[in-house]
Amino acid sequence: MEKMYSRTKYNICKTQGELKNRLINIEKEISDICNQCGRKRNEITVLSVSKYVPNEIVDIAYRLGVRNFGENRIEKFENRKKLSFFNNCSWDMIGHIQSRKVNKIVGQFSLIHSIDTIKVARLVNKFACEKQICQPVLLQVNTSNEESKQGFISNFGVLERDNIFACMDELAELPGLDIQGFMTMAPNTNDKNLIQSVFHDTKVIRDKLQNLYPQLNLKHLSMGMSNDFKLALLEGATIVRIGSRLFIK
Ligand SMILES: *Cc1c(COP(=O)(O)O)cnc(C)c1O
Repeated sequence: MEKMYSRTKYNICKTQGELKNRLINIEKEISDICNQCGRKRNEITVLSVSKYVPNEIVDIAYRLGVRNFGENRIEKFENRKKLSFFNNCSWDMIGHIQSRKVNKIVGQFSLIHSIDTIKVARLVNKFACEKQICQPVLLQVNTSNEESKQGFISNFGVLERDNIFACMDELAELPGLDIQGFMTMAPNTNDKNLIQSVFHDTKVIRDKLQNLYPQLNLKHLSMGMSNDFKLALLEGATIVRIGSRLFIK
């Protein structure tokens, strides 16, 4: 993943025609999946992950009708404010958040997908309360249990500091957080069954927690990226985060 950030290692789609074709193909795949599993297209949000591309390409995407963008770095996001249509779009934060940057992030994004520890949750709450806002967030769960991945631990019954089941009482009470659901990342594998089972497990966790916390509206499941969004949609994803499939050749 890291190599994706160095400009020399990949080519981005530069023309309106190219981007248009990609949008059409993605849309076709989503509507096929919706037909296959009886879901409605309008309950699914495609988040275009623009972290790979400069403002000129975001501009082309906008002209093609894209309105929901995902960024993983606050610096890159700040640069998007130069775009004349910035305020006509919704911008989500999808990347890991360092403690020292929480203050900059809170109040800037329509949705933060990557609340991955109780510590970050408390900080977001603190700054949201200071700014007198309620920040929409998703809780990132490390459903695949991969060491390299961020997120709350989700093994039911294991009481650890960042276990989602252990933390939820506190999270649900934080007045500065509007918790709307969960985000997960698929494991690094080509095994589609394994990937799908991780998405399935995430939905099960959501359903369990929704039952336990009826006062919350845990409507969103942010799961699935370029290579696995179809599996995620089969398991109930409401937001798919698509970057390279749209912007990278
Ligand atoms: C980069 C990124 C994506 C998009 O990944 P692609 O495989 O390029 O579609 C989605 N989610 C997160 C958290 C990311 O960092």
